[in-house]
Parts: sequence; structure tokens; C-alpha cells
Amino acid sequence: MKKYVIFKDDDVGKDLQGLKRWIEIVLKNDAKATIGLIGKYMKNEELVEFLNSLDQNKIEIFCHGYSHRYLPFLFRKFLKKSRFLKVEFDRDSKSHNLSLKKYRLVEGKYLIKRAICFGPPGNIWNENVIDSLLKNGFKIMFSWRKTKYDLFTIPLTYNLKQGSLNEFINDYDKNKDRRIYTLQFHHANLSDKQFDLVSEVIDFLKNKENRIFITPSELLEISKKDKDILNLISPLN
Ligand SMILES: [Zn+2]
Repeated sequence: MKKYVIFKDDDVGKDLQGLKRWIEIVLKNDAKATIGLIGKYMKNEELVEFLNSLDQNKIEIFCHGYSHRYLPFLFRKFLKKSRFLKVEFDRDSKSHNLSLKKYRLVEGKYLIKRAICFGPPGNIWNENVIDSLLKNGFKIMFSWRKTKYDLFTIPLTYNLKQGSLNEFINDYDKNKDRRIYTLQFHHANLSDKQFDLVSEVIDFLKNKENRIFITPSELLEISKKDKDILNLISPLN
């Protein structure tokens, strides 16, 4: 049975030099990735030019919201409870719809290809976003759990937070049997040591684990012929 791997990189627009460095490593090692673009950064010409120069069969863009507030996780949790300041993932369906519409608008203006995949900021979403995703033409989203709506989900695994290949393998072994292994990155937060680790991790997943690098679009294609994969990403019924 074929085993797959998806590299998910977040917060595109925040640090163009870090993004270029990360993508160069992915391509140099003959891997693939999907990168989460924050809509408001599409006004940056240099970023847009770079994104449009990418081969989307190798580096696919997904939508990571229009505006994205960088609040520490615990602080966000507190805000959510306090109902004091709404953060992006906690919006109501009307404001989610406006945000995704705005993303589609700038996307249509600046980018060659339209995203089919959504990855919520902080990986946190509530059911208010689903309807807006469907209305705005998204087919698949990254999520910790399935939805009961007509939207496929890509199961998440973990962030690359380790400092060495041995540490990575220790954590990887807990998820070794998963047919879809989704590893997350934040290029803006990687240390030099972790940038070097990316190559080693690619080599390990590809050559030791025989995993095939795919993009969200390819995952959807594979699911048409592979029932097991289809079940893994299908909505709850
Ligand atoms: Zn983010």
C-alpha cells in the first residue's frame, strides 16, 4: 500500500526570504509542498511574482485566511473564552464569508491559479466557516477532525519542532502507520538548524519510509481510485 506525505507550510507573506529559503530546500530535494498564503499580503509585488513563478504541481498554494492575527495560542484561548475580541477562527459565518470573498477577489486579481484548499489560522475552526468555504469554492481543508459537511479534510499530524533527525524519527514512529502523514512548518520561525533538518527529514521520508510527496490536488485525484484514502478524507456521514 502506498504511503503519502504532505508538507504544509503556513503564514506565507510574513517572511518572503524565509519562504524562498524553505521552498528552495524542498525543490532541491525533489519533494513537494503546499503553502498557506495570507490574502492581505497579495499586494506585495515581489511575493506575487515569486508565487506565480512556482510550479503548482510541486508547490501548491492554499488559503490561510485573508487577515491573520498572530496571537499566542494560550492568549487566543483566553480571548475565545472571554468573548472580548474576536480572532479570525472564531468569527461568525458572515465575517468568514467576507474574509474568504476578499481572498478570492485579490487572488483573482494577482494569482495565476485558484486555491482549492483551506488551512485555518492556528488550525482552529468552528462550524461557522464551513458554509463560507463551500460558497467560495473550496473543496478540501486541513483539520484535526472530519466535518459532517460536503468538504474533504486532510488529517494533520505535527509541527516540525525537533532539532535533530533522531528526535524527529522518535516522534514520527508514533504515526508511522498513517497512510497520509501531514507535517507542518512555519518557515518564519525555523532556526538554521531546523532549515538543515528539512533536507534530512525529506530524505528519511522518501528513501527510508518510501513515502510519496503529494499536494492537496493530487490527494483528491488519488482518492478517486483509492477507497481507503477516500475514507480518510471524506466527510462524516
Ligand atoms: Zn498561521
